[in-house]
Amino acid sequence: MKACGDPGHGGYDPGAIGPTGIHEADVNLAVTLKIGKILQANDVMMSYTRESNDVPWPSNLNADLAQRCKIANDSGADIFFSIHCNSVNSTAKGSEIYTTPGTTQADRLATAINKRMKEAFPNVMYREDWSDSDPDKEANFYVIKNTRMPAVLIELLFISNPAEEAMLISGEYQDKVALAIAKGIGDYLGINIIGSAMHLLVQPVDPQRPKICVGGVIFDGIIVDGSTYAPVRAMAETLGRKVTWDEKTKTVVII
Ligand SMILES: [Zn+2]
Repeated sequence: MKACGDPGHGGYDPGAIGPTGIHEADVNLAVTLKIGKILQANDVMMSYTRESNDVPWPSNLNADLAQRCKIANDSGADIFFSIHCNSVNSTAKGSEIYTTPGTTQADRLATAINKRMKEAFPNVMYREDWSDSDPDKEANFYVIKNTRMPAVLIELLFISNPAEEAMLISGEYQDKVALAIAKGIGDYLGINIIGSAMHLLVQPVDPQRPKICVGGVIFDGIIVDGSTYAPVRAMAETLGRKVTWDEKTKTVVII
């Protein structure tokens, strides 16, 4: 399996600029590379439209966008994802995923990523459009219209909102959102994405929200009265056990 990551903007184009001067292009690059590292660690081959702030296209928006699509199409990737941050004003907030209009495989990819992002960040606002029975918004953005594989464009958060700008530049947010997006891509590709041990280490730990690592898969637990509680079905299934629920006796049975 192959994926192509597109960090929006870069080089001559900083993208949107946050209230403290953070460039969208830098956030997009950091998150895209983190997603790529996780996918690569799970045997997904990666290509990128850019891997630094030195862009391989001239300082011209048309050439820029056309070159990104050419890189993606030439790479033979199975999926394409473009990472951006939104910007309107200091109060707008939330996360969006775009596909091109109509029903395509990209809708399934977007839905899988949306689900994983909501699991990872239940308190973020998701700006969804359910008019066609799925959560993605639809627009003919150049890079998703002119790439040949299923393609999504993700607006992580609003860099123009001071609270969301602070999230966007934190390593903890970047690591967690990268893992969520990688897992969504894995769900679409039929690959169970495992977060690396390195990923665990760089993430600051909330003492009430311990991480539980089961065979390389990371689960979120919670501490109640000194005991760690964890999602039993997901953990037991990761260990290859079968889990059933007896409704009458309200009992979880692990076989
Ligand atoms: Zn952008």
